[in-house]
Amino acid sequence: MVGERVSAAPVTGRLAPSPTGRMHLGNAYAALAAWLGARAAGGRVLLRIEDIDAPRVVRDADRWIMDDLAWLGLDWDGEPVYQSRRLDLYEDVLCRLQGVTLDRRGRASVGGVSAVTDASDGAVDDSSLVYPCFCSRADIRAASAPNEGDGFLIYPGTCRRLGESERGGRLAHGDRHSWRIAVPDASAPETSRVVAFDDLVFGPQRFDLTRQVGDVVVRRSDGLFAYQLAVSVDDLSMGVTQVVRGRDLLRSTAIQLWIRRWVAACGAEESVADGVGRPDMTPEFAHLPLIDAADGRRMAKRLNSLDLGTLRERGVDPRAVVGYCAWLLRVVDEPRPMTPDELVPAFSWDGVRADTSDRVVDADESFR
Ligand code: GLU
Repeated sequence: MVGERVSAAPVTGRLAPSPTGRMHLGNAYAALAAWLGARAAGGRVLLRIEDIDAPRVVRDADRWIMDDLAWLGLDWDGEPVYQSRRLDLYEDVLCRLQGVTLDRRGRASVGGVSAVTDASDGAVDDSSLVYPCFCSRADIRAASAPNEGDGFLIYPGTCRRLGESERGGRLAHGDRHSWRIAVPDASAPETSRVVAFDDLVFGPQRFDLTRQVGDVVVRRSDGLFAYQLAVSVDDLSMGVTQVVRGRDLLRSTAIQLWIRRWVAACGAEESVADGVGRPDMTPEFAHLPLIDAADGRRMAKRLNSLDLGTLRERGVDPRAVVGYCAWLLRVVDEPRPMTPDELVPAFSWDGVRADTSDRVVDADESFR
């Protein structure tokens, strides 16, 4: 089915749906890209059900998604991995991260004993890598300016500056808190503040963790593990080498590379089942243009018009959906019915790379 892969390292891709509803066309497009990226390189595709955000999970949506993936002709290797069944792992990782302290010169140690690798060259100026944050959303909104007009709030660092006794007192008192991971302080050299990666679609990327990201939540105040922590741990521990997802997650990639580095540095990946995680390995990333509905709303808001349940009820051929998604990806130059397998020989990232503008889909005109 697939050609030889030139590079020595086999590709492991992943499908990472959130079971919050039925798949829509945008999800099918992203899943097809992730599947093709791995299969065209002769690689494996893992399926991870991202059901960590329990309040948003819709019962049975995991089964609908798996059924829709199969209907499209997108398969995966091995059993699906459910984040909700990995809470002990996230707990263990967080516990280890909580044990990382940094001295004034930015050298890290775990439990006061072992010096931790070169991860400390991105030193923060505080003693705790992960710290409790007692701020409410309103506190944070009031104290920060949204970044670059996209509404992303950079945490102003209020609780990072709390003294040990106040911190301890508030924890002992049971004050509601989340946990955040610190990024380098503004006084750190630029080289340690910047996370850079080469995106297969959007090219070289560079994020200043201090100015563009800030200290992000790794455990929420409702006790749930944050998406950023779970995904970083999972991609590392599952041995994922290629991450394909929407361009709205470019900044998350910078955050996740930072978290991943610490998870690896404090040895937490050893606690992971099959030990395939390679801490020294940075996955490849391919971020995709987003899909907009013709009326300007993101596809995610158009659940009724183009969800796969509706398309299936209308008797639409799955190959028409796959071909349409392949055309959105610019793998083929017109939308015509195809199976994922048929697309494998033609696939490369060049098409997507050549046109990085968001795609506009007319919900009423497609699949007539
Ligand atoms: N679960 C996320 C979604 O369905 C994808 C997150 C990721 O690819 O890291 O949008």
